Amino acid sequence: MSLSTWTKRWLKTSLTLLVILIGCSLVFFLNLLIGRHSGETNLAINQVRLRVNPILLQLEQNHERLNEPDLRDQLRFIADKSGLDFDYVGLDGMVILSSSPSSEGTQINLRSALHYDLNHALVAMDGSQSLNLAFPVMDGPGGGQIGNAIFTIPQSLVIVQKSSTFTFFVLGTLVIISILLGFLLIFMKRKIRKRMLSPIHQLKQHAESILKGQYNDQIQYNRMDEMGELYAMLDLMRTEIMHLSEQRIRQEKAQKELITNISHELKTPITTVKAYIEAILEGLCSDEETLKEYMEIMRTHTDKTARLVEDLLVHALQELGQISVEPREVYSRSAFETMLNPIGHIVRMNSLIYEEPEHIPNVLIRMDPIRIEQVLSNLVSNALKHTVPGDSIRINAELDLGKLRISIADSGQGIRAQDMPFVFERYFRGNASPSARNIHEGTGLGLSICKSIIEAHGGHISFSSKEGQGTLFQFTLPIC
Ligand code: ADP
Repeated sequence: MSLSTWTKRWLKTSLTLLVILIGCSLVFFLNLLIGRHSGETNLAINQVRLRVNPILLQLEQNHERLNEPDLRDQLRFIADKSGLDFDYVGLDGMVILSSSPSSEGTQINLRSALHYDLNHALVAMDGSQSLNLAFPVMDGPGGGQIGNAIFTIPQSLVIVQKSSTFTFFVLGTLVIISILLGFLLIFMKRKIRKRMLSPIHQLKQHAESILKGQYNDQIQYNRMDEMGELYAMLDLMRTEIMHLSEQRIRQEKAQKELITNISHELKTPITTVKAYIEAILEGLCSDEETLKEYMEIMRTHTDKTARLVEDLLVHALQELGQISVEPREVYSRSAFETMLNPIGHIVRMNSLIYEEPEHIPNVLIRMDPIRIEQVLSNLVSNALKHTVPGDSIRINAELDLGKLRISIADSGQGIRAQDMPFVFERYFRGNASPSARNIHEGTGLGLSICKSIIEAHGGHISFSSKEGQGTLFQFTLPIC
């Protein structure tokens, strides 16, 4: 059951019990309140009437014969049987007939002695065990009042002990509901601790370990409720943070390596150029032919340095997300011929067979010649790094479905299958075979830069390779 359903059910049950509890309490108190006033007296007056009626009837019917001793005795007898004492008082306050004959002929104060209302009579009791209640005695039906019968009634006859069953029932319900509510609260407390507080505490501990960088402890929770969802989310966050952290560590390492590689990449050509300049200055270069040869070597190395600096610049822009490509409309043939001439020269200089494109289609394309030359230069430079003298580099240009496709194929060592998915990744450097030249060269930036440049032109770059047989890189550029 989900936490919200469970909480709703619990709240509903508690509220129902609470409403019953309040209802019972109200009934109980109302009952007490009402019972104190009207209910009891209503019930009592009926009982009193039943007892006094025979005497009242006799008094009304036979008031003219009240001097007859038999009648007087009979009335006293009836009163005695009913458990009552009475005084029959004339309108002048004189006691005409009484349960205790000694009172007869005495005068009573009608003002203070007459209580027709049971409540007044109850108030006037003033601590005694019986009360005096007066009933008017009439002269037959329709006649006027001829006197008053004052009955002395025992308290027990008037204040009826109210049936306590109902009170007990209400009280019992109150107690049962309170106990139920109490149990429910205890049960709820346990449940809350088990299903909410402990998981939250555990969750806090997990969050703390994540904060401390301990990403390996898996977060587990067995229930499929809201808490389970929260746990799953936190675990997802943990794995995400773990991957990001691993990625950051990898990147930091790669950047450190990049600096080492750049230093090495720059140092080698600069040292070489410096050595050749010193050789020329020391006069080691006897003839013009050797001088030209030296100059060529120095040019190759300075080209390399320039290419590296250009790569670094693009890399920096890539990092900032603002790779600078400024395409303009150019005719493909002349543009590529200009770019490929020096490349062919370099390839041959490296004792490789250069196969230039047989035919370059002449179409109008939008490109940034400087950046596309950087792409060509990087791809050829890679081919040079992974070939040995005697291998070949072949460049081709053709039209393919409204696009110009340029391919650079080499017959070098090829790319290892396990490296293939990563070659376009920044900082990735594959494991070169010991036979390849310049094994330690490279920053791992070249192909990622090529990809960015080509994609910024709206084109696509891909490769195919077979280990030991060679590699083919090709890119497309959209035709205008
Ligand atoms: P770098 O050349 O500086 O190492 P790149 O991004 O240019 O970086 O290339 C990434 C990796 O791809 C290289 O380290 C290499 O393993 C592989 N690679 C690229 N071009 C070739 C190729 N023509 N032949 C074999 N491997 C290649």
